[in-house]
Amino acid sequence: GQYVYRFGGGVSDGGKGDKNLLGGKGANLAEMASIGLPVPPGFTISTAMCTRYYDEGEQFPESVRAEVANGIAHIEEVTGKRFGDPTSPLLVSVRSGARVSMPGMMDTVLNLGLNDATVEGLAKGSGDERFAWDSYRRFIQMYADVVLELDHGAFEEALEIAKEDRGYTLDTELAADDLKALVDEYKGLVRQEWGKDFPQDVHDQLWGAVGAVFGSWQSERAKVYRRLNDIPGTWGTAVNVQAMVFGNMGDTSATGVAFTRDPSTGENAYYGEFLINAQGEDVVAGIRTPQYLTRAAREAAGAKPASMEEAMPEVYGQLADVFQTLERHYRDMQDIEFTVEQTKLWMLQTRSGKRTAKAALKIAVEMANDGLITREEAVARVDPAALDQLLHPALDPDAPRDVIAKGLPASPGAASGKAVFDADTAEKMAAAGEEVILVRTETSPEDIHGMHAAKGILTARGGMTSHAAVVARGMGRPCVSGAGSVAISAKDKVIRVAGREVREGDILTIDGSTGEVMAGAVATVQPELAGDFGTLMEWADGVRRLKVRANAETPHDCQVARDFGAEGVGLCRTEHMFFDAARITSVRQMILAEDEKGRRTALDKLLPEQRADFAGIFEVMAGLPVTIRLLDPPLHEFLPHEENEFAEVAAAAGVDAEVLKRRAAELHEFNPMLGHRGVRLGVTYPEIYEMQARAIFEAAIDVAEKSGEAPIPEVMIPLVATKRELDLMKAVVDRAAQAVFGERGREIEYLVGTMIELPRAALKAGEIAESGEFFSFGTNDLTQTTLGVSRDDAARFLGAYVEQGIYAKDPFVSLDVEGVGELVELAVERGRKTRPDIKLGICGEHGGDPASIAFCEKVGLNYVSASPYRVPIARLAAAQAAL
Ligand code: ADP
Ligand code: MG
Ligand code: MG
Repeated sequence: GQYVYRFGGGVSDGGKGDKNLLGGKGANLAEMASIGLPVPPGFTISTAMCTRYYDEGEQFPESVRAEVANGIAHIEEVTGKRFGDPTSPLLVSVRSGARVSMPGMMDTVLNLGLNDATVEGLAKGSGDERFAWDSYRRFIQMYADVVLELDHGAFEEALEIAKEDRGYTLDTELAADDLKALVDEYKGLVRQEWGKDFPQDVHDQLWGAVGAVFGSWQSERAKVYRRLNDIPGTWGTAVNVQAMVFGNMGDTSATGVAFTRDPSTGENAYYGEFLINAQGEDVVAGIRTPQYLTRAAREAAGAKPASMEEAMPEVYGQLADVFQTLERHYRDMQDIEFTVEQTKLWMLQTRSGKRTAKAALKIAVEMANDGLITREEAVARVDPAALDQLLHPALDPDAPRDVIAKGLPASPGAASGKAVFDADTAEKMAAAGEEVILVRTETSPEDIHGMHAAKGILTARGGMTSHAAVVARGMGRPCVSGAGSVAISAKDKVIRVAGREVREGDILTIDGSTGEVMAGAVATVQPELAGDFGTLMEWADGVRRLKVRANAETPHDCQVARDFGAEGVGLCRTEHMFFDAARITSVRQMILAEDEKGRRTALDKLLPEQRADFAGIFEVMAGLPVTIRLLDPPLHEFLPHEENEFAEVAAAAGVDAEVLKRRAAELHEFNPMLGHRGVRLGVTYPEIYEMQARAIFEAAIDVAEKSGEAPIPEVMIPLVATKRELDLMKAVVDRAAQAVFGERGREIEYLVGTMIELPRAALKAGEIAESGEFFSFGTNDLTQTTLGVSRDDAARFLGAYVEQGIYAKDPFVSLDVEGVGELVELAVERGRKTRPDIKLGICGEHGGDPASIAFCEKVGLNYVSASPYRVPIARLAAAQAAL
């Protein structure tokens, strides 16, 4: 097969549709070349080669060597330079590039093709000795790091010493002779550390680098990134070999990165950073502080050094034209790398830019309004899970704050937590339930797990496109980067700023939207749901079929849910109401009663309380359906567990401590999940369900009389396995309804249905639907009972299960569509066959998970029910599922 695809110089063997084969970078380089943009010529070795390389024991087949030789010939032909030629040497970069971008995860080597002979040719050809030797020393340094995997600290140290010895502060102050000496020193370091001389043969250099790029696919940090982002290890990476262009050839040269719109706010303004007389990775590495791209951005930041727009107006104009071309061509915001070599502009990369949720909304809405994309495309483009960032509180603007420093607003949102100074500690403390802010001078790919564990990230160095900023935005973590006034010592675990100290464990607050860093915690306010968010949600509501309800059991949660657009309550768990300190005593009296009469006495005390609970919910949800689940947990959950509580509880309940202890012992179960709970409570103590049903109907009529709008109660019987169970309980509920309707002289509409959360119920759904007017799939329990896995005990092994691909994702987070899903499908089919208009919904964790929602759309449920804060996520996911 073919493994090498050329681009540049009027040739493009591939295009943007070939991401799987060429990787994102390679596909887009080919695409840019094909639409006439200035791309240095090169070729891509496909991801298929990466797979084969690993299959064949990390060896290259002979055939690919010939293909690569042709690729090099292509570059030579376009550039007129020759690889390894001492008079007119061709230099190349060797760049990784997977299907999806993995920022900073993979390795790249620049300036490859330099050796003791070609460096002279480069010096003569460019007329710039300093540049040639600077390139050579960069090359050795990178090659030693990436390909030979030598300790890069030694090389950095040699560079620092070279500067110090001469009294310089900047790399650029090193003259040609200084750099020659440094190259000698570097070569010595290579010999010493590697045991061999630095490779002088350019072909050896090339194959070494290609192997290293493939090798980086299996590096630890790449594996971690893949795990966090659900990227399969089988995809492999492509390798791009491309003619070097030089941003470090003096003051008419530069390198930069840009976004066609602001990736943080979504504002339609070019956004980027550049450095004069520098090479690509200098900007990203945060070695020198980069300059702004546009004059407006520079002025807004009150910065002095000229923007690119001011320093290089002509090239800037060309670049702006390229931005326009790219946005129109890709119909999306682009993230771009470019280099200017002696006033000539070159494009080195483009891809759809990572953006915050806020920016994603704004860009999607504006592009649709401008007709660049359709409204459906706008709806499809916003990641529902990312909305989470917007739905949470931001810092209260009026709350007092003790600002200790200001950095760049690198990733929006606010976070408070304990300061920690290394990724491992961050991970450990987060695992122990602590909220932490990861504080680093700058981050590197080794910090990823700590960034993931942290609530927010603070760095002292690096710009808006630094590693910390890019990764934090991708993860949705608030981040303040480049807070230059703070001195961070990871060793001493302390931040020193303006005569103050913040130590490990001290509370720190960061605001990634303003760049402020504050000592202590700061109060927060609810998010703003109008504007672009409201618009996109409206468009989403226009295309979705599934209704979205909320799991809520307090008027406050119901209000939050309604504000977020919930169309009813899908699950109101009544047991939460029983834990209330004031009424748990009555609950306990009920449990401790010797007979039905005693239970009824206690239940009579609970009735008015329960009625008030439901009235509060019905008022907020007026006119909307509210599914109320009758008591579900085993009764012993309401009794004390600690020896020292018994006396007090017994006294409050008016019984002897011994009686309480005996009753608690009686109620003890070996496996409460499968014990005396759900409908089994109703069967043994029907008076409990009777009281709850009465409370529901009395409250419903109260609210209907007060507001004129009757709620639609849906009374749900949990944990049903057989039709007979449901029939018995339905009779209890109907009797209560008739009694209340008779007393009040008014009827209201209501439904009685069941949760489908046991495999038997799913199998017998056809029969159960004869009595049940609705089904709500309780997929938490249905997952437990189908998989035979206890959710509370799964933590010990589920990680290994997911890692080894037994389940693709945690089945309690994302529905096991193949297994549990099949039971759901079957129950839907059988239920509908008996009762064509049966109402079908899902409650439980899965109701807010986009992948599970797509499944619910597929099997044709009527609604999903999610926690209040996930309602908008569910609305958008439901819309995307319908597209
Ligand atoms: P990453 O995926 O980490 O961004 P890249 O392969 O894009 O790695 O390269 C790292 C840096 O080197 C980028 O700034 C890029 O623009 C620059 N670069 C890569 N190839 C060349 C080249 N042929 N000429 C000049 N700069 C290059
Ligand atoms: Mg790049
Ligand atoms: Mg359940």
